[in-house]
Amino acid sequence: MKDKSLESIGEFGLIDIIKNNFNVKNNSSIVGIGDDSAVISKSKDEYFLISSDMLIEGIHFDLTYHPLKHLGYKAVSTNLSDIYSMNGFANQITINLGLSNRFSLNAIQEFHKGVKIACKEYKIDLVGGDTTSSKTGLIISVSAIGNVLKKKLTLRKTAKKNDIICVSGDLGRSYLGLQILEREKSVFFSNPEMQPELSNYKDLIEKQLKPKARKDLIEKFAEINIIPNSMIDISDGLASDLIHLSIQSKLGVKIYEEKLPILKSTILTANELNLNPTTCALNGGEDYELLFSVNEKDYNTLRDNGIDVTSIGYFTSNEKCTLVSKEDEIISLKAQGWKHF
Ligand code: ADP
Ligand code: MG
Repeated sequence: MKDKSLESIGEFGLIDIIKNNFNVKNNSSIVGIGDDSAVISKSKDEYFLISSDMLIEGIHFDLTYHPLKHLGYKAVSTNLSDIYSMNGFANQITINLGLSNRFSLNAIQEFHKGVKIACKEYKIDLVGGDTTSSKTGLIISVSAIGNVLKKKLTLRKTAKKNDIICVSGDLGRSYLGLQILEREKSVFFSNPEMQPELSNYKDLIEKQLKPKARKDLIEKFAEINIIPNSMIDISDGLASDLIHLSIQSKLGVKIYEEKLPILKSTILTANELNLNPTTCALNGGEDYELLFSVNEKDYNTLRDNGIDVTSIGYFTSNEKCTLVSKEDEIISLKAQGWKHF
């Protein structure tokens, strides 16, 4: 077969190739590659959930402005987000670290302070991992183990036609937080005497440095007996993650620009940086909010219970992913994903 560059295949293309090359064979492997977590048999009523994520210095974080303590917290919460997006709960994590001599014991302990805060907040245990040397900077790989009641398992591929598409929280904040930190870094390096003026952007920077996984929403779903028809967490950006739901559910989506939940501070900062707030919300990524679909009755229950989610559109039968702009133009959504290669 003719060889191809990874750049031409892209992250999602490569994952598809791996998936097609490895059919699951064991009866206990319920869901393999392709959702936020793998699903494994556990007991009569429950499944195990397993998710895995890697963070690499220079690609996913910059130690000039990502403090190690926050990085420890972020590495855990972003991984747990993939367990919650299956409508389950996490119990344990393992962490693999690739370290160089550049780090002291204190630095690693700072990292683990953040891990500990996350363990306490999400009620999970760190139960193992691996430690190795690295010549390419800090490497952090986290795996999480959770469980879900069989009847509550929520996949990417099970959205239904006419389902209402909902998103928790707000979008675009983390990406703009990153842009502000990048700007401060370049200002600081060109003029180290300058005091950073970051207090105006606290909301944005906090979301970038210390994103929370939406365990609270999964708890709410359980309280009010809602099981979404489909769900994914937003890591690559609303557009990409919506396209995952659409392709896997073999349905189209229609969302409305005017309905996207974007905070005023996000809009103001986007304008200041000459960025389009809608583009930041669609393609920024690292929101770690939950994107899910429910039928109209369940949507009304969510609304009646005052749950903090926004309906942004609905699933259609035509397999097209479109955004209706504020000017009523129909715009085709494009997958972004991270450019890893
Ligand atoms: P997420 O953004 O939710 O973490 P990813 O896009 O990273 O999801 O992964 C999508 C799916 O592909 C998941 O099921 C994940 O386990 C799987 N996957 C990603 N990379 C690999 C790999 N190198 N080998 C096997 N499975 C992979
Ligand atoms: Mg995910």
